[in-house]
Amino acid sequence: SDTYEDHEYFTSYSRVSIHNEMVFDKRRTEAYYQAIMKSKQLFKDKVVMDVGCGTGLLSCFCAMAGAKRVYAVEASDMAFNAELIVNRNNLQDKVRIYKGKVEHIAFPEYVDIIVSEWMGAFLIFESMLESVIYARDHLLKPNGILFPSKAALYVSPVRVDSLMDSKINCWNNVYGLDMSPLIPFAQQETLNKTIRDHYLETTDILDDPFILRYLDLSTITIDSLSRTVLNFNFKLPNGAFHGFASWFSVYFECLDRQENQEYNHHHHWVIDIDGNLVEKSKCDSHQTKLSPQPFEMSSNTLELATAPGTGSTHWKQLLFLFEQPKDIYHHQVDKQSTASIQGTMRVSQHQTYRRHWWVEFSATQTVNSTRSGSYQNYLI
Ligand code: SAH
Repeated sequence: SDTYEDHEYFTSYSRVSIHNEMVFDKRRTEAYYQAIMKSKQLFKDKVVMDVGCGTGLLSCFCAMAGAKRVYAVEASDMAFNAELIVNRNNLQDKVRIYKGKVEHIAFPEYVDIIVSEWMGAFLIFESMLESVIYARDHLLKPNGILFPSKAALYVSPVRVDSLMDSKINCWNNVYGLDMSPLIPFAQQETLNKTIRDHYLETTDILDDPFILRYLDLSTITIDSLSRTVLNFNFKLPNGAFHGFASWFSVYFECLDRQENQEYNHHHHWVIDIDGNLVEKSKCDSHQTKLSPQPFEMSSNTLELATAPGTGSTHWKQLLFLFEQPKDIYHHQVDKQSTASIQGTMRVSQHQTYRRHWWVEFSATQTVNSTRSGSYQNYLI
């Protein structure tokens, strides 16, 4: 009956450890801090809503940036601690805590800006974006601003030798014993579900990513979010091919114009490996390759990327691996003969448990003009 599993969901967010993981994820929190602090002209005297304020950290940032009032909404019991934190920092005149689901609360006025950190694994896992969309449609003034305002989800084929060695191939030789009878079981246990606790190296990526989905938060609807279909076509180098990986970026826009900023020039900032704000053009070029810009910039923009090589975040990257690795071998002497995989990736929201998602790949692989099919299905 509880299609959002709210009891379990909000109980998990009542624990300090989950907030520790987020607050001290330096690149995540620095992105929000910088995006807000670089937008003081925007925040000045505005009414802000923080959808899912957790410990209240982002609400306090908004108050520090000059907001007139901040409605800090939190459904879990962490709301009580957020209130203590707001009081302790003397921000109670500006930040008001509301305990409950944003969907169930009546607020005294419409807001100018919605700030929220709603991103889950695979961007959309946990489906908290639905609550942000609700707030946008019911509580935000016309032409109000969302922070962040855009997001993109990327997918690439990968080869993850170190992971396969530590989980699968390790059974081939253990103190001189051949323990490989365990391998099919290890493959079934480890590889038939998504892997969330792995950091990819940029060298694990076999081809440039496709944009699986681009989200403009000002227009996306809950209905259109529930299903995504991508037709992809990747080139594959010789060697092992283990499956696919996914990561995302979110974008904050409408940051204040900087002094001496040329009229037509927009800054594109990113949070670098060490958690510092830098111009994207000054970063390693593979950052641009692994998170290609999905829209035309029309204002100063700050991007938080979770792509391999951009530095760590608690989201890491998400892996969808084959149960049986594929061995790609094509004759490189012949320039025409390349290996490729083309197919369709379908992402659809679970009908009953709306915080969960099906991710389905059906693909045809072509190596030296020999074709073979594959199918994978995951629930996250
Ligand atoms: N803003 C905080 C916490 C982000 S985690 C920070 O950046 O550190 C997301 C939080 O949103 C969780 O604490 C969760 O309990 C809360 N949340 C999710 N959906 C919500 C909803 N519909 N209404 C109110 N709170 C919600």
